[in-house]
Amino acid sequence: VPAPPKFAWLDGELVDWSDATVHVTTLALHYGIGFFEGIRCHDTPDGPAFFRLGDHLRRLARSAAVYGVALPHTAGELAEACRQVVLRNGLTDCYLRPLVFLGAGPNPLQAPLRCSVTASAAGPLVGPPKEGGVRAQISAFQRYGANTLPPAAKASGQYLNAFLAQRAAVQAGYGEAILLNEAGFVADGWAHNVFVVADGELVTPPVWSGGLPGITRDTVLTLAAERGIPVAERPLARSDLYLADECFLTGTAAGVVAVSSVDDRVLTGGAPGPVTRTVADLVTAVAAGATEAHPQWREYLH
Ligand code: PMP
Repeated sequence: VPAPPKFAWLDGELVDWSDATVHVTTLALHYGIGFFEGIRCHDTPDGPAFFRLGDHLRRLARSAAVYGVALPHTAGELAEACRQVVLRNGLTDCYLRPLVFLGAGPNPLQAPLRCSVTASAAGPLVGPPKEGGVRAQISAFQRYGANTLPPAAKASGQYLNAFLAQRAAVQAGYGEAILLNEAGFVADGWAHNVFVVADGELVTPPVWSGGLPGITRDTVLTLAAERGIPVAERPLARSDLYLADECFLTGTAAGVVAVSSVDDRVLTGGAPGPVTRTVADLVTAVAAGATEAHPQWREYLH
């Protein structure tokens, strides 16, 4: 087990890691009212660089805005907090968690918003996807609808739905849960976006199907199109996953994860299949600064 980092950022200042604590009356613990991000920092030939930090901080503000809430800090302050927790902890390849959460108060409408940023060491995201892939299960739990908990928001309480689905999948011996929306079409993984490859085309559901607007998803769509791979955003049925040549999941923490089977229907294109491999290589190259393309996506710390 690696030693914990020395410092965390809490409500505007760096504090000792062990002092980054909250009281049990913190309302976010009771009601799940919070908004967060997962961000990667990579060691590149030009030093550590955040991957699409600005886009992640923009999504954080938009997650809060869905709930009518303004962030307690500016994007500039949050970017500087991210920089500090990486540099002051001597980290390079790491994973960051900005979290805006409701503090203690008489009720949820009269409580302060608080904010933390933590970073932890993470393996480099460089390299091909894990051989063999994961077995995915389409969950019996449905993704919440757009008028229940808007899927465009990355909000803490929304992960209760992910917990139901992923816990059941793992208990049944699968690696990853995939959730359908209220209309029965593919929405999202529990913490990943879903892609299939069929007849040479790369397809992912439109965000209005109930997936989070993933930043890795956007990176994949952009890089694949540039590479000349036909890409489309259109609704996917359960059978589109069963009959796909390849299927993969995308997310900041896990990168590109190949799926070997869906509900025990083994995908014929392999795990990882050739398109999954190509996509994973494109994403890791751009994040790790192994290519000159998309320099605006790498935000260097010094
Ligand atoms: N869907 C859900 C529900 C998620 O929690 C995540 C992780 N943030 C994703 C998709 C992937 O998003 P990103 O690529 O921005 O990490």
